[in-house]
Amino acid sequence: MTADELRAAAFPKLDDAQLEALEHCSLTALKHYRDGERLFEAGDRDSKFFVIKAGTIEIIDESGETPKTIVVLGRGEFTGEVGQLTGGPSPVTGVARGDCTVYEITQDSLRQILNIHPDLGDIILQAFIARRQLLREAWNFTGLLVIGSRYSRDTFRIREFLAKNRVPFTWLDLEVDPQVDQLLKRFGISEAETPVVTWGRKLLLRNPSNHELAEVLGLRRPLERTVYDLIVVGAGPAGLAAAVYGASEGLCTVVLERTAPGGQAGRSMRIENYLGFPTGITGGELAERAVVQAHKFGARLPVPTPVTGLKFDNAYPVLQLDSGETVTAKCLLIATGADYRLLGVEGCEQYEGRGVYYAATTVEAEMCRGSEVVVVGGGNSAGQAAVFLARQVRKVYLVVRGDNLYKDMSAYLARRIEETPNIEVLLNTEVRRMSGNSHLTAVELVNTKTAEVRTVKTPALFSFIGAVPRTDWLPPEIERDEKQFVRTGPELSRSPYWSARRQPFLLETSHPGVFAAGDARSGSVKRVASAVGEGAMAVLFVHEFLKQM
Ligand SMILES: Cc1cc2nc3c(=O)[nH]c(=O)nc-3n(C[C@H](O)[C@H](O)[C@H](O)COP(=O)(O)OP(=O)(O)OC[C@H]3O[C@@H](n4cnc5c(N)ncnc54)[C@H](O)[C@@H]3O)c2cc1C
Repeated sequence: MTADELRAAAFPKLDDAQLEALEHCSLTALKHYRDGERLFEAGDRDSKFFVIKAGTIEIIDESGETPKTIVVLGRGEFTGEVGQLTGGPSPVTGVARGDCTVYEITQDSLRQILNIHPDLGDIILQAFIARRQLLREAWNFTGLLVIGSRYSRDTFRIREFLAKNRVPFTWLDLEVDPQVDQLLKRFGISEAETPVVTWGRKLLLRNPSNHELAEVLGLRRPLERTVYDLIVVGAGPAGLAAAVYGASEGLCTVVLERTAPGGQAGRSMRIENYLGFPTGITGGELAERAVVQAHKFGARLPVPTPVTGLKFDNAYPVLQLDSGETVTAKCLLIATGADYRLLGVEGCEQYEGRGVYYAATTVEAEMCRGSEVVVVGGGNSAGQAAVFLARQVRKVYLVVRGDNLYKDMSAYLARRIEETPNIEVLLNTEVRRMSGNSHLTAVELVNTKTAEVRTVKTPALFSFIGAVPRTDWLPPEIERDEKQFVRTGPELSRSPYWSARRQPFLLETSHPGVFAAGDARSGSVKRVASAVGEGAMAVLFVHEFLKQM
């Protein structure tokens, strides 16, 4: 989309017929605001959605040093952005300029309107997504400010959490940013107390945990005391697809996610083989769209909500959360995917988050702009990371254990790597040691054929060396294969844990009513499209199961 197209999508005007429909809709209330009155303020949660019937509303960014007008909305235009649906706080303030008349709509009513009036829904959702993109990319919007050192693991954790959850923020690096001293003085804090998170002139949090950040940002809402029709564990492509299909088909659905929606796909800077996106899409964008879609249909998605265990109460799955709470469901979908394996090399753990990374997104790339970096792995994820990083850094060494780049990588990607002048592929090579002080500074590589050793001076090593399933929270009743992937399908009727008279459905595990989809499932294909397909399919089996209950 060009900048003009993006702006047009962000600020559409509803026509008279559409305003008329809102006038007669029982979900809207006509309200009047006087000149200068604030309709909503930055930081407000559950703020209402406003469509302007007459007059104007000024939208102001108050997150920076001085307030800035972003846009002035007139008749037929409306307020709001993605957070309006996902429950996040408003990033901006809305003030009546002149007396104005608006249709005021609560968040619940907005959700209903999106579903009852798909024509309006399309315009509003497209505008929300485009506005979030403009906030992040075009308006010089400060958003939350994270002040912390590039060498601090907590600074990295906070930035990573915000970026993965697509929260607009700005990072000020303690090591190089000239504004930092003055800001720390203003907030009365020392360097040792960083990282801190601020908003405008307010100090919000000192070195917050991800939970604390999520509470403040409205990402983590308390769960209802109810038995859900469907609990999905994991919000990667499989879990998000199940949430969209489950909620849209009327199932009371909650998705419990450990860190941020998107899963492994969320780390991809370019997914080129997902149907319908011929020019590719970043995993983050795909996840953001899926999250909006799931919320539109009423799915809940509190983040972070790591699940630590599973028990059964009268055959109902009961999930234990790390907060000590429990949640019960009629059906459960295991969609916890897989994580990249740790390198297991001397020095590796010490430098995690301080030079050793398991994702290559803009957050990590910023740390090593202009340097030489090492990417380890021979699969597509390593290949994508190498290509992405090559645009940001001076040189990429791609370290591959095998002797052929084409063995585990798609041919189009391997060719692209060979054609990128600042990527050097090192075949038959392994990492032997990492060294540095508080941050990684060097990586020792060894050629397993020639025994030649080479040291690369680098601030960053990116590791993509195969995945392990995240199924360690499951009890023995859920059968797994020798590599701990969850078994599913009819042959489990022979399992000692299978208690129903019928055969298990295709994606059902050894416990009736518990399903598995995506990378966590034994025999799965490990692709975005197949994970999405399985997540959608699992919902079909959930319906079948509920019918027989
Ligand atoms: C860098 C990279 C690039 C890739 N590029 C492509 C590509 O271009 N095309 C393609 O087809 N495939 C690609 N893949 C593979 C693809 O992303 C995966 O196959 C897909 O994401 C699997 O989806 P999933 O939902 O099964 O699991 P995941 O994506 O692994 O998601 C699982 C989710 O479960 C959560 N979780 C785990 N344990 C718990 C717990 N105990 N409690 C709560 N939540 C939990 C995790 O935080 C995660 O969000 C790529 C993978 C990577 C890493």
